[in-house]
Amino acid sequence: MSDINGSCSRCKTEAAILISRKEKFCKTCFARFIGGKQRKQMQDEKFKVKYGKAENNVTRVLLALSFGVSSLALLDIILLMLKEQAGMHHGKQGFELVILNIDEHTTNSLTQSAREIVPLMKVRYPNLTFKVLSLSSFVNNQALLARISLYDDFSAIVKDFSAEDFRIADLLDRCPNKSSREDLLHIIYRELVLRTAYLENCGTVLYGHNMSRLANDVISLTVKGRGSLVAEALTDGEVSYRDRKIQIIHPLRDILQSEVDKYAELMTLGVFTLTSSIPVSTVTKNMTIGEITSAYFEMVESDYASVVSTVVKTADKLVPPTAGTTNTCRVCKAVIHHDPKSWLRNITVNTPSELTTDEERAVHAKYMAERVVEEKGSGEKADLCYGCIVTLGGITSAGFVWPMEKDSSEAILNDYILSDKED
Ligand SMILES: [Zn+2]
Ligand SMILES: [Zn+2]
Repeated sequence: MSDINGSCSRCKTEAAILISRKEKFCKTCFARFIGGKQRKQMQDEKFKVKYGKAENNVTRVLLALSFGVSSLALLDIILLMLKEQAGMHHGKQGFELVILNIDEHTTNSLTQSAREIVPLMKVRYPNLTFKVLSLSSFVNNQALLARISLYDDFSAIVKDFSAEDFRIADLLDRCPNKSSREDLLHIIYRELVLRTAYLENCGTVLYGHNMSRLANDVISLTVKGRGSLVAEALTDGEVSYRDRKIQIIHPLRDILQSEVDKYAELMTLGVFTLTSSIPVSTVTKNMTIGEITSAYFEMVESDYASVVSTVVKTADKLVPPTAGTTNTCRVCKAVIHHDPKSWLRNITVNTPSELTTDEERAVHAKYMAERVVEEKGSGEKADLCYGCIVTLGGITSAGFVWPMEKDSSEAILNDYILSDKED
């Protein structure tokens, strides 16, 4: 970083220590440049310091902290903003911050647990409150668990399920491949973040995704057949959760991964960073969809940064589809615009070709005698989106178990306790 000649092109006085977007920066000007990008996304009145009556009505904001470089950088920038507000307004701040971490220590084989990092962070940033949730809090009420069976014609039925101690980690372990697992984890994280925002009265959720990560999400959602979610995942706007609207903001959406990395290095955030100890395979066949797209954007970013911003800007113009039905997927809660069953039946072949030789007939007879056919039986029909049908497809033989709310007004939240301690 220090082999750059000349002075900073912004302040013209300090020595430049890095180049970004063809411009030379000193530390102070680079931090201001990154901070400016975040503030542009959070200009709304509700984030400003209030006086008078409005003072009692302080906005609560949830920040989803994974302890990855991006969300740590976001936290650092936000805390700087709050500190500046306090400095200018006699200690008043524009909003209250709730920091949520979903503990991925075991699911993602992180090098360390978030619970070990929190005390270190409190030394640098005093007075912060962290909520650390374990994955198991996704199933807060075992009574809501149901088994979903998927049939050859892509229809799905919900059946009763009872088990003494069902663990969501067991279901994840049964995923036939890493992409399905990654897909289900995303559904779980999204639900936990929104649920916590709801319970904590946070009207806004901040995600640390930078431009490169957003571009990655656009492509991987599309590949996974969840293209209708791109608009929601990319656009900073409101999502409905139960009877409320929650605003989602990606304050780092104009910042490249390489710039986040530089910021984190300058601010020495590396000590707090948690990384997975699972090596990412270099064999494409063994990579998850997310890993493949992420490797791609890492490759193009250094020379073709405009590709990244083009993907994000194009996707940002998308609006959620309005056509078709308005059923909701029972697993991921996405709105189903077109029934995927009829389409899947059209493109797949589910009947065997004619048997011509005696050998084929013998093998077929043996197969028919031995195969175990699950009776469709009784149960409630379940609407599933295309993405979930694909993900469930490989798991159903062993049983796909998922918490199923009868309807969104059900008092599931009453049972929901933020089971993990607050730090
Ligand atoms: Zn400067
Ligand atoms: Zn779904």
